[in-house]
Parts: sequence; structure tokens; C-alpha cells
Amino acid sequence: MTADFNPFEVAQSQFDRVAGQLQLAGEVRQILRWPLREFRFQISVHMDDGTNRVFFGFRVQHNDARGPCKGGIRFHPNETLDTVRALAMWMTWKCAVADIPLGGGKGGAVLDPSSLSVGEKERLCRGWVDGIYKNLGPRNDVPAPDVGTTPQMMGWMMDEYSMLVGQYTPGVITGKPVGSGGSLGRTEATGYGVIYTVREAMKHLQLDPRGCTAAVQGFGNVAQYASIGFVEQLGGKVLCVACYDRNDKTTYTYSKADGINPRFLQSITDQYGTVDQAKAKAAGYTLEPGDAWLTKDVDVLIPAAIEGQITAANVDGISRQVKMVAEGANGPTSPEADVVLKQRNIFVIPDFLCNAGGVTVSYFESVQNDANYYWEHEAVLRRLDQKMTTAFRGVLEMARQRDVAMRDAAYMVAIDRVVKAMELRGWL
Ligand code: GLU
Repeated sequence: MTADFNPFEVAQSQFDRVAGQLQLAGEVRQILRWPLREFRFQISVHMDDGTNRVFFGFRVQHNDARGPCKGGIRFHPNETLDTVRALAMWMTWKCAVADIPLGGGKGGAVLDPSSLSVGEKERLCRGWVDGIYKNLGPRNDVPAPDVGTTPQMMGWMMDEYSMLVGQYTPGVITGKPVGSGGSLGRTEATGYGVIYTVREAMKHLQLDPRGCTAAVQGFGNVAQYASIGFVEQLGGKVLCVACYDRNDKTTYTYSKADGINPRFLQSITDQYGTVDQAKAKAAGYTLEPGDAWLTKDVDVLIPAAIEGQITAANVDGISRQVKMVAEGANGPTSPEADVVLKQRNIFVIPDFLCNAGGVTVSYFESVQNDANYYWEHEAVLRRLDQKMTTAFRGVLEMARQRDVAMRDAAYMVAIDRVVKAMELRGWL
């Protein structure tokens, strides 16, 4: 997050704009522009060297009118209550736009997970659950992975919760490892979901994907599978990925003129998204500064790292060739940059539509946990594609009807559904 970018203010201002256009009543706006509940707690962790370290943990439950709160847990050094609030609010819209029966929540802790040993990470994850477990549960609030958290961490958290309540409860958390209540297809779900929406957008814009190029920011879970999907499913070329190197504490853009090989890059990338520089150079990759990805002559930009990346300060550097921004990350574009993208007629697939694939397969995972019956990989991806395609078309239709950009249209679809659920439950 850059100093001038407060994601919660951004989330509220996006909501306020559309609430105005929809002429929502004051009390409805009041409920939706703030979370229903917020928790902040301390987590004391025994470190390997015998000392104790105390971390701050958060969980924010934005809205649960449509079902249990749902959303990931981020472990990031810059986490704040405001980042978690924004992300929780976006989860409410994401679940609504994907039309899955869940509300919005988000969690976090302020730390750099790459600085912890495996044992310390396990104790931290168990401590996070100990601090909040009375407010979690398959029918209350169901966390999942996000930046800095992994399936293994979800597995420890599920175990801790199950031990505390005295009952095996896989549905308390999603994104668990396959073999421990996880769903096939969950790992690639967010990135592939991004690509399903890009495919639909290309149909709309009458672009042939096989002739298209992309630049990707990030090389964590979302960026890796978005890159793989862009190459393997669409037949396009990814010219570069930009990622943070935790050894150098610097971000680099890794490029190849004839297109990167995402499976190769994935094979030389660690669990924190740091690419092995020596191996990349040996394979003919060029390293450029971290912000070079944004200025490349490509058809599609896929920001798939964190919030606040495309701003008034750099939006003018986007190449004239760019026709589409597919927001794999949550909140990558500032409202000022959004205005410029609109003026330049760049088609934006907004974050909570574009990256809804992860939570959609999380929903499938919890359905499988409830039924204790697990689906084939192919069935998961087929249903994911159906959900993403339907969501995309619904938002596009709203954009046409109301003559608004895709972000505002996505808000309109989502807000309508949440308000309807609140009305039906008698909250309004
Ligand atoms: N953290 C992911 C997101 O931002 C997934 C959430 C989930 O699966 O609950 O959408």
C-alpha cells in the first residue's frame, strides 16, 4: 500500500458513487459502508530461540445477509485494520456478484511470514485461530488463504479449530490441502477464473486471444495460474511478470520477447513468489525495474499482486496498445487511475468480478465438506467456468443497460443482491 492509498477509503468511495446512482436509502448506505463486526486481537507466539513475540491479528465481518462471512487471511507486514476492512467489503460484493450464498469477511496479521520457521508459522496460525475461534464456524465465518498464507496454514487452522470445538470441522476454513478436506482445483481457481473472464471480455471486444499479449504483475498463486491460463487456455503470450525478490528486497520485471514460459518460471519460484534470478537469467530472461511491466506494449495488463498499484502517478505510462486491465489483485487501481482508464476506453474487468474464482471454488470446497463427497478436478473447473462466465455476462449486461463502466456495473449487480437479502431477512 502506498502512503496516499487507503484501501478502505477507496472501497467506501466506490460504494458511495454507486449507492448514489442507485439512490439507496440512507440507512442502507450506513449498514453497507461499514463492517457489521470487527475484531483485533493479540497473538503471542513461542519463537524457536526461546523468546515470545506478539503479533496483531484482525478479522473483519463486513456483511452476512446472504450467508456466512467468507474471505481470506493475509499475513503481510503492512496489514492494517483499514486494509482488512476494505478487503472484507470487497468480499461481500465478490460473493454477491459470483452469486454464491456467502457474505464478506477478511482477516490478517501484521508480519512477514518468510521471516518465520515452519514451527513458528504453525504456532502463529494456531494462535490466530485461538484468538477468534468463537466467532468463526461453517455457519458464521469461513476464512481462506490470501497473500502470505498457504494451504498448509489452512490445514493447521482447521485442525486447531476442530480440537477447540471437539469435532472435526473441515468446513470452518477453505483452501485446505487436498487430502485434508481441500478441493481439487482450488489452487488454480483464482488465476484460471481471471482467464475465464479475460476470454469472455475478448469475445466482447472481438479480440483473437491467440494474437494477444499480456503483462502480469506478481508471481504468487493468482499471477502464476493467470499466466499459465493465458498461455495454455487462450493461446496468447505473456511477455513479462513483475515480482518482488525477498532476498534483494526489490521488485523486478522478468521479460522474454517471445513470451515467458510460466510453468518454467513457476518451477524456479519459491513459496513466497521469489524467482531464482540466476536460473531465470541462464534461461534467457531479462531483468528490468519492477514498474516496467506497466509500460509494456501489450494488449492486456493483469495486476495480480496487491492493492494500490495503478495510480495517478503511473497510469499515464500505460501503453496505447493496452485494451484491457484484468484485476487479479484486490483493489489494484486507484479511483483517479480508474477515471483515466475510462477516458482512454480501456476495458476494466474489476477485481471482485475478475478474481472471484478463488472464493467460488472455496464455496465448492465447503459444499464438498458438508456432503463429505469430493468432486473430480474436471467437474470443479467446469462449474467454476460456468459461474465465472455467468457472472461476467450479468455484469456486462448491467453495464449495457445502465451505460456504465464494468466496475460500477459489478457494484450495481452486487449491491442489488445484498440489499435484496437484507430486505428479505427483515433488516431494512
Ligand atoms: N482470498 C481470496 C479472495 O480475495 C479467496 C477468499 C476465499 O476463498 O474465501 O478472494
